[in-house]
Amino acid sequence: MPDKKSLFAQIPKIDDILNEKQIQELMMAIPRVVVLDVIRKNIEDIRKEISQLSEVNIDQYQLPYPSLLEKIIHDAYEKNKMSLRKVVNTTGVILHTNLGRAVLSEEIREAVWSVACNYSTLEIDVKTGKRGSRYVHIEEVITKLTGAESALVVNNNAAAVLLVLSTMAKNKEVIVSRGQLVEIGGSFRVPEVMEQSGAFLREVGSTNKTHLFDYERAITEDTGALLKVHTSNYKILGFTEEVTLKELVGLGRKHSIPVIEDIGSGTFIDFSKYGLVKEPTVQESVDAGADIITFSGDKLLGGPQAGIIIGKKKYIDLMKKNPLTRAFRVDKMTLAALEATLKIYFDEQEAIRKIPTLDMMTRKIEDIERKAKDFNKLLMSIELPCNISLTQDYSQIGGGSMPLVELPTWVIGIYPNDISVNELEKRLREYQTPIITRIQDEQLMLDVRTIKDNEYTLILDALRTVMGVKKGESH
Ligand SMILES: *Cc1c(COP(=O)(O)O)cnc(C)c1O
Repeated sequence: MPDKKSLFAQIPKIDDILNEKQIQELMMAIPRVVVLDVIRKNIEDIRKEISQLSEVNIDQYQLPYPSLLEKIIHDAYEKNKMSLRKVVNTTGVILHTNLGRAVLSEEIREAVWSVACNYSTLEIDVKTGKRGSRYVHIEEVITKLTGAESALVVNNNAAAVLLVLSTMAKNKEVIVSRGQLVEIGGSFRVPEVMEQSGAFLREVGSTNKTHLFDYERAITEDTGALLKVHTSNYKILGFTEEVTLKELVGLGRKHSIPVIEDIGSGTFIDFSKYGLVKEPTVQESVDAGADIITFSGDKLLGGPQAGIIIGKKKYIDLMKKNPLTRAFRVDKMTLAALEATLKIYFDEQEAIRKIPTLDMMTRKIEDIERKAKDFNKLLMSIELPCNISLTQDYSQIGGGSMPLVELPTWVIGIYPNDISVNELEKRLREYQTPIITRIQDEQLMLDVRTIKDNEYTLILDALRTVMGVKKGESH
């Protein structure tokens, strides 16, 4: 009769496992340290298992060998996976902050890789051979697109606002309407950013109404700037009044006080041309005469994470000298991605087609319907153990942009026979390439708007795998 001692003695030695042919092969694909970690962990688990065996179970205990090798191989591949990796977004939320906001255009791949994997012109002026500035690369394209005098790019729009206020209004008052004290995703709140910048918040008006005279009455010799924040992630409806940027600029000029606008989700495109609601464009803010304007690179613009600051050269020059600029400075990959994305905007039709955010936003309902129907047909053809439906629904822009906009779309609903909807959602989320879905009306919903053409087969394979259907097997 075996006892625990003899079971422990049977556990293979780490060196023996390392010498197995399969493990030797494994180590050609996966670093030895990773494999070793996984072996140790598995052996530790077996030890634990044995030590917890009751007398009765000792008899029946089988050392998991050689199946242990398979488990080690599986675990090693799992452990070696990138933590940050691609997912499939079937939620229909185009700018999904948790899924990385804007998806970059395939068109800019070469531009970004070339700069990332080589030395680059980041800070050298090739004409003179002297030290250059990393900001020149995007300044020209931004000023050309927006009509602004000058531009600067930092890590994100939160940093942009902080830098702007710290440069232009430190130890001074900044006048803001009470209806515009925005919070964006918990950590960015206008009053708190203001405090960090060293500027003092001077709230005026009420939540629903602020008049020009509210600003004017609040102006003193301590006023450093007038700030307008675009409430991009909420709307105040009903009995409301807001001062336009133009009116604010008029007031600023009269008192020689600069006017700053934080547009948040900045766009160069008038979306009303594409059947969407109108969002203020960056060019309009420049035309209205704002001294400084800030917006995000990875919201409606569809570029990399960045905070873009544009406006009067005299203020931008001051910002370039602010030590915060160094702390907020962007990497060469961001600059390359931003420059390449912005260049696509020189032709608006190209931008709509080639920048995924814009393409997904402006996609025609007939195209979405066709894709959904094709996908539905494909799903039916493999006979999965589930009910499948095809219905109309709404997609969202997300990322705190255009909160009230509902884009008509088509969704596939999946109701599994053998497992719960929650279990299906979890299994897809934990699939090799995670598939992010949403549950609505007790069904799993796949919105085709945010699915790329080359992802349908992947979703199909995933559904087959997680519902336990082998290829070629009908249910
Ligand atoms: C999104 C947003 C921000 C923050 O921008 P990030 O690029 O996410 O840092 C600031 N202000 C407004 C109005 C916004 O909509």
